[in-house]
Amino acid sequence: MNAVPASGDRRRHAAPAHLTFFHGPMDCGKSTLALQVDHNQSRQGRQGLRLTQGDRSQSPRISSRVGLSRDAVEVDAGTDVRLLVRERWAAGHRVDYVVVDEAQFLTDGQVEQLAELVDESHVDVYAFGLTTDFRAQLFPGTQRLFELADVVQRIQVEVLCWCGAPGLLNARVVDGAMVREGETVVVADTAPGASAADPRYKVLCRRHHVRGQLGPTPTGPGQLTLHGQPVEDAQVSVR
Ligand SMILES: [Zn+2]
Repeated sequence: MNAVPASGDRRRHAAPAHLTFFHGPMDCGKSTLALQVDHNQSRQGRQGLRLTQGDRSQSPRISSRVGLSRDAVEVDAGTDVRLLVRERWAAGHRVDYVVVDEAQFLTDGQVEQLAELVDESHVDVYAFGLTTDFRAQLFPGTQRLFELADVVQRIQVEVLCWCGAPGLLNARVVDGAMVREGETVVVADTAPGASAADPRYKVLCRRHHVRGQLGPTPTGPGQLTLHGQPVEDAQVSVR
């Protein structure tokens, strides 16, 4: 078990690499954790490649709401992530690990490419993404990562719904009301100058996501009508 592999035999006995997927709702600190993992790896002398897609900075960076930011390679649906790694190798750089932010946007094929990098090239992959979209359904990239990752971990930084319960689901808000239909991917953020008609997102607990209730005020904006009747707040036991 503790036998030291003969030199030249290291590849066969290399410590297995892993595909690890961290997921959570918006605002759970996923990009911050991505940067932390990257930092921890590079402090061990390992060299990595950072990938992102539609980052909130609108430039190829992984940036977090707490102000951390690092440059990254922007990928799109047509990117073969294996080629990105091979290009680095061809240029004489090591790639010991890959950090992928916004992994919910990956295609099935790209998740499979990441798994191949892990299995065939011993590159560790750390992917970070949103669990579900505003309809409370898994993003395609997230689903494939659930299927293929060695380790799947829900990010434990707690995001709270307005009621104080753990926030698990993303609500899309347009004109002060929660919407349940539309394009799966609408990148939006609290950019200055955004109008009320632009989609925004709010993290809710499951109960308030089901009810479409964006806040404690029964007559306020954002009330979803069920069968033509406003949801009665009197029946809601607010914590
Ligand atoms: Zn709630």
